[in-house]
Amino acid sequence: MRCPDRSPDESGRLRALAEYQINPAQGLPALAPIVDMAARLFDCSGAAVNMIGDTSVTLIASQGIGQCDLSRDLSFCAHAINQDGVFLVADATTDARFHDNPLVRGGFIRFYAGVPLRAPSGHALGALCVVDEQPRKGFAIMDRQRLIQLAEMAADKLELRRLEVASVARRFSASAIPSPSAIISCDGDGQVTGCNAAAAELLGWSMMDLSAAPIEMVFAPADRAQIRDSIARLLTGAMPMTEGDVLMAQRRDGGFNPVELHWSSWTEDGRSQVGLILRNANADQSERDALYRLANFDAVTGLPNRNLLWRHLEESFAARRAFSMILITLEGFADVNNTLGRTLGDRVLRHVAQRLRSALPHATLIARKGGVKFAALLPSRDPILLGAAARSIQSAIAVPLVLDGHDLHLASFAGMAIAPDHASCPDDLVGNAELALGQAASGGRETALLFLPQMRAQAIARRQMETELHHAFELGQFTLHFQPQVRLRDGHVTGAEALIRWQHPVHGLLMPAAFLTSLDNSVLAEAVGGWVLDRACAQLAQWRRFHSAFTISVNLSLAQLRRGHLPEIVAGLLREHDLPPECLELEITENIILDRHEDILAQLEQIRDSGVKLSFDDFGTGFASLNLLRNYPVSHIKIDKGFTCLVGTSAADRAIVKGVITMARDLGLEVTAEGVESQTIAVYLQGLGCDKGQGFFFGKPCSADCFAELYLNPTGLIASA
Ligand code: C2E
Ligand code: CA
Ligand code: CA
Repeated sequence: MRCPDRSPDESGRLRALAEYQINPAQGLPALAPIVDMAARLFDCSGAAVNMIGDTSVTLIASQGIGQCDLSRDLSFCAHAINQDGVFLVADATTDARFHDNPLVRGGFIRFYAGVPLRAPSGHALGALCVVDEQPRKGFAIMDRQRLIQLAEMAADKLELRRLEVASVARRFSASAIPSPSAIISCDGDGQVTGCNAAAAELLGWSMMDLSAAPIEMVFAPADRAQIRDSIARLLTGAMPMTEGDVLMAQRRDGGFNPVELHWSSWTEDGRSQVGLILRNANADQSERDALYRLANFDAVTGLPNRNLLWRHLEESFAARRAFSMILITLEGFADVNNTLGRTLGDRVLRHVAQRLRSALPHATLIARKGGVKFAALLPSRDPILLGAAARSIQSAIAVPLVLDGHDLHLASFAGMAIAPDHASCPDDLVGNAELALGQAASGGRETALLFLPQMRAQAIARRQMETELHHAFELGQFTLHFQPQVRLRDGHVTGAEALIRWQHPVHGLLMPAAFLTSLDNSVLAEAVGGWVLDRACAQLAQWRRFHSAFTISVNLSLAQLRRGHLPEIVAGLLREHDLPPECLELEITENIILDRHEDILAQLEQIRDSGVKLSFDDFGTGFASLNLLRNYPVSHIKIDKGFTCLVGTSAADRAIVKGVITMARDLGLEVTAEGVESQTIAVYLQGLGCDKGQGFFFGKPCSADCFAELYLNPTGLIASA
């Protein structure tokens, strides 16, 4: 265990703490609602405000915390005061500073989050904290902000306490100036002798206006006599009748606000002085409002948060209402946040919130569920109305947004579920809408889907598949097969395409069609893609020892380009296997090109510039035109097997294939035809000027050993296919 450090100015800190004259037996009851709110807000077993003394800690307000050892060395808060912001211990049992702390060993604390509470001098006196007996994975930024806001409220309460003590101790005006509380003082004649900025703000006058003015000026005419009377009573040593009362203050603009009065008096330089601490009498109400807002609304967008959403859902189910839910998630927002910063990201979210509100005037609730996920509740169970609502949300979000000169294009996905048709409790309704959303998100931009019962079965199957894929990877069940690529001009095997296979213990050798979609959608995609690249390079290095011109083609998946490190990974592998860049060809498909991620294009360019070849796979199957390819750093195209087949059919189809080959050559792209299944087609393609062919006619994909035996001649010559 590590004992908490002491402040470099520990004696100054302890002097500052003494100014609050805290009685450990009484604590500070004004803090009770804040601590209570903290425990509820974060769903924690305990919350407290602790003041850190010389050797011990005083709990001046607490909730859910029983008798415990209060020595400073054991206190988590004593660590929290040594830093700014939120001090976080996600799991104390695995934290070297706390794992053997008796509070941890006794099972009282595993999770801790605390924010220091400072005196106006800047000294950290203690902390507001929440604790839990269970560890927590994280404490989101939003949670941190909320805890900090609660700590600010707690600090206000502490400051009031300090001033009350100071006023009794007759050090009023010196304490008042830096204070965030509203303080005004006057002499025995009622002329203002001092006032701080907080008082001027609360009263609605400037500090200049108030200097040497009669203090009664700031009160409503009807209350002025009471003020005069109070001052007179104080001068005779009696307590004013208005102590703790609410009178009307009158602002310079003539308006009124109620203020609560706390009087004190003392002698300065032989003259009587009267001091007033003023509190906004609306403050309790506004404080309650603030706490309510904090607990139920999202600070960024002002929309109801998850808490309130859940309450509405519970109420709607309890009232047996028929209603529906739309979940919406944004696509492309992470880019905004990463490239343009959080502040702009927050503004985008506020605009989105506004668009949701105007697109859904009939919604009973529009909430921010968290992150970039929003939820709307509609008072209808009509799927047609629901679909129309989702579409109007999506078109509202799709309108380009111009912020600070940036043109932002956001897209969204929507998932919908209906109650009571699809669920009988909030958890199920949200879960089903999430399933529909998940499926919408894999269906391309702007998709909106209504929950269908089979989605649940599919989700279960997907999860099982993912578990199986993890096992497969761990147990080394993936393997590579190789298919020859042949130069049509002379029939030489110049290289191979590496194709993944899964040697399944029960189902035998599986083709990519059986598992690749699941793999690409799983967290494993990047790792398996890296493994394929590494194994293909290793095999290539081995074959190039005898066949120095041999090349290999490897298929890329989108996940490998998502994190931005692919150029380094490729360069690293080439170095490791001692390969020149031009012997490696990476195949990309349309889904990679159409991802429109700027970073992807930059990575591809970097890879091309390093000398590695890039080819565009499955040409002809999608929407990508040759014109689009002009903007991409590809050097090869691979004509899809569907197209190659056409060659054998009609003259018109032959003309299409011929046109593609001619145009590709004009653009300087090398052309490989896939799916060459007969000699006739091979000969025909050769006649059209197609550079290479790949297909069952030349050879099916097979294991590395089989490939070497069939196509690689040990004497160093590559045999003709
Ligand atoms: P692809 O990149 O277009 O690979 C060619 C596919 O066509 C292979 O299927 C191959 O066996 C098949 N093929 C080759 N010649 C012929 C032919 O003459 N006629 C017919 N009908 N088919 C032929 P395979 O191995 O099942 O792979 C399917 C797809 O899976 C590949 O299509 C590729 O997109 C993907 N894939 C395979 N391995 C990997 C990999 O390691 N990573 C990634 N990201 N994708 C891979
Ligand atoms: Ca391929
Ligand atoms: Ca292909």
